[in-house]
Amino acid sequence: MKYDVIVDCYTDEPSGLGVPPFLSVHSRYIAGALEEQKRKYYYLTIDDLRYSNGEKHNKDSYNKRIINTTKNKDNVFDILNNADNIYVVMGCFVKYEYVSAEPPSFLEVEVLLRKYSANKLLFYSLGGNELTRENVRKTVPQGLFDEIIFGNTYNYFIGEASNKFKPNYDRLKNIAISSATVLNQLERPLVMEIETATGCNRKPGCTFCIEGMRGLPLQFREIEDIVSEIKSLYDNGALYFRLGRQPNFYAYKDCNSSEIEKLFKRIWEECPNIKTLHIDNVSPHNVNTPAGIKITEIVAKYTTAGNITPFGIESFDPKIRELCNLNGSLNDIHESISIINRFGKDRGNNGLPKLLPGINIIYGLDGQSEKTLDYNLNNFKRILDSGNWVRRVFVRKLTSPYGEQFDKYTKDKLDEFKNWSSTIENDFTIPMLKQVFPVGLIIKDLRMEMYKDSDSILRQMATCPVRVVVKNKKLKLDEFYTVKIIGYVGNRTLLGEVI
Ligand code: SF4
Repeated sequence: MKYDVIVDCYTDEPSGLGVPPFLSVHSRYIAGALEEQKRKYYYLTIDDLRYSNGEKHNKDSYNKRIINTTKNKDNVFDILNNADNIYVVMGCFVKYEYVSAEPPSFLEVEVLLRKYSANKLLFYSLGGNELTRENVRKTVPQGLFDEIIFGNTYNYFIGEASNKFKPNYDRLKNIAISSATVLNQLERPLVMEIETATGCNRKPGCTFCIEGMRGLPLQFREIEDIVSEIKSLYDNGALYFRLGRQPNFYAYKDCNSSEIEKLFKRIWEECPNIKTLHIDNVSPHNVNTPAGIKITEIVAKYTTAGNITPFGIESFDPKIRELCNLNGSLNDIHESISIINRFGKDRGNNGLPKLLPGINIIYGLDGQSEKTLDYNLNNFKRILDSGNWVRRVFVRKLTSPYGEQFDKYTKDKLDEFKNWSSTIENDFTIPMLKQVFPVGLIIKDLRMEMYKDSDSILRQMATCPVRVVVKNKKLKLDEFYTVKIIGYVGNRTLLGEVI
């Protein structure tokens, strides 16, 4: 009996991240399923393949295409040559400039993998319905893969491949626990993305959303299943966790604050030395309710500092909100921002506010007009005037449910999008950054993540971490530092000096 190989080409979905320094559930659950079947496997990243093909670091910069290698990096040819099956995992919905990773195109995967004779399967994490999946199939290089599988990777291994995005939480229970063995093959620390639920609690959902297109009923994983998974990863060395794979964390067990508190309590009981415990994805209309206020108090109390509730606000334009069936009124949104600030604005011991809202804005939604940017700016001004803080603003273009690489925006639209982004940055994001991270602030637990143009770039192992640049210094990769803030570079980067 030979073995199988997972080649992680990284995933970035609306709910769920698997680009380093995050490890996706998709690759990890393949590892868990193989482990369950007592099938030997190797875990490789696309960086391992590039490295083995001769890519190198530069003198004054690390090459982010090869910085996420694994312990298997020196045996890549042998491993791939003798494999039975090669499982390629990919699917990024935005073309994003990541700090220390570069997901590949299909073309690059073809160049690096074509020569191997093993059975090759593509696990593509995006794709809402059959029509969108057909689009992906047409774009993948002909004959490269023997099979293309969409949705939950573990479904394939339990004979439920046709279920695609539908969860099998009973079967996932043990697979999730077994997935921890993949950590033995990693070289660098990663944040473990953890799944708590599937489906959206709003019916009908927002018109553009992939969750609505998948049409899945709301389903939750059991507390003890989530805790056992985290405990297994923790026992194998993981220290950084994000409960990030679900459309809306506050909807857990139908917005049941006692169950959410129990989940956090049990995690800390089993894993007392976790360094990061964060969440992702929150619907603002579930915050300004009695249950939402209680949940906010619990999240601020039980998670580590620097946590964010990213709100899918998408647009402040009332016409768009109605047309696209976006959740909550403008007053709901402002009220929810105040509630998060009430419980989360104080700083924790790593220097960051405990819990702050994030805001996602989408360019290109139905109903957009020349007034839309003004609506957005007026509401951003209202937030600034209120004295509330926001930790992160993400402005993106509307994308296809199968990924931005399939979209074709005209030059005019791209120029307008750039103008949107820079106006929001100058009018809101930068002034807010200066309030949340004032000069003189001390930030702890910053990991040296990247060396670029003779500068070191550090971030916390956390959700949506801010970047801190230490100029003209090569700090030690993956070491942790304490830094004093001395200035700003752009809308999401701070200048710091090590103390
Ligand atoms: S609230 Fe809207 S954007 Fe969020 S998951 Fe539901 S349908 Fe999608």
